[in-house]
Amino acid sequence: MDKLTIGLVLPDVLGTYGDDGNALVLRQRARMRGLKAEILPIKLNEPVPDSLDIYTLGGGEDTAQILAAEHLIADGGLSRAAAAGHPVLAICAGLQVLGESFRASGRIVDGVGLIDATTAGMQERAIGEVASTPTGTGITAELTEPLTGFENHMGATILGPAAQPLGEITRGVGNADTNATADLRDGAMQRTAEGAVQGNVIATYMHGPALARNPQLADLLLAKAMGITLAELEPLDIPAVTQLRAERLRRS
Ligand code: GLN
Repeated sequence: MDKLTIGLVLPDVLGTYGDDGNALVLRQRARMRGLKAEILPIKLNEPVPDSLDIYTLGGGEDTAQILAAEHLIADGGLSRAAAAGHPVLAICAGLQVLGESFRASGRIVDGVGLIDATTAGMQERAIGEVASTPTGTGITAELTEPLTGFENHMGATILGPAAQPLGEITRGVGNADTNATADLRDGAMQRTAEGAVQGNVIATYMHGPALARNPQLADLLLAKAMGITLAELEPLDIPAVTQLRAERLRRS
């Protein structure tokens, strides 16, 4: 691979929570391994090119995420990219937007449909540290390290059979509150679910940004984009990142 191009999808509407940092982390970890890497920001009403190497979407407010969903559905580029197997990372509102539907600004809005998930409203905002153990499902089979982030949302996300949780909650709320899951047949499993994995799409409620706090997840995305395994990617030792993780996980 000559150069890695990271699509930063709709930073103008899905950029409220600092999740643009995920693209920076990917670019930096690629460059530290001698790979040329660049970020391509794609703004609202611009077409999403369907052949980039990785795509990231961040969190956003209700009104903003409705605009994001409408644009991504009308444009179709991100859906073509996902169908072609390019890895996609979606955070919080990004997760909700890529699902089948979500509730925002008092109505139910169609999502892009890349994740078998529906998001209803929670009674109370989920806010604070969130930590989970990777489930190792699908594309995330090589993940071994605990996942850590910060959640801030009102969405209760229920996964359908085509999607699997990214992590099993050890702290925080994650996808669902107990009210939303009480009457589900697999309610116990859904109550501990954090995020979603479906094909090459990885979605999570973790802000942080998530990839600054979870370098193994960043490297997994890089490895997938490069067509190699995580084990084949040259390891990187960044003491500040190790220290940050230790600090955050101590609080979990
Ligand atoms: N607006 C959504 C919610 O409150 C997403 C928030 C976010 O992206 N942090 O659930």
